Amino acid sequence: MADSAESLDHSESEQSQTPVDRRLYLTDTEHWTAAVKQGTDRQYCFVQNPGEGFFHLILDGEIFVRSGDEQVCLNCALRRGLVTTDRLFWQHRPKTPSPRV
Ligand SMILES: [Zn+2]
Repeated sequence: MADSAESLDHSESEQSQTPVDRRLYLTDTEHWTAAVKQGTDRQYCFVQNPGEGFFHLILDGEIFVRSGDEQVCLNCALRRGLVTTDRLFWQHRPKTPSPRV
């Protein structure tokens, strides 16, 4: 198993049968949307990793997120919190006061 070392980090070795949830959630659907890179024109992620001096090339077929002209690869989107793997993320963010009286 090539990825056993990675799954051990989650200290759930007894639940190794549980499939990894690879779903991603946009945290701000008002401004950001998911898109797929198509075609041969070069597109680059607008964000650099800390310490890196280059922008990430987005490949044909790659899923990324965009807001207007700004496009961000999924790695950077995860790092910046634009997308999350936390299915319950919406429970953690501050809400506007509920209209309940
Ligand atoms: Zn990036």
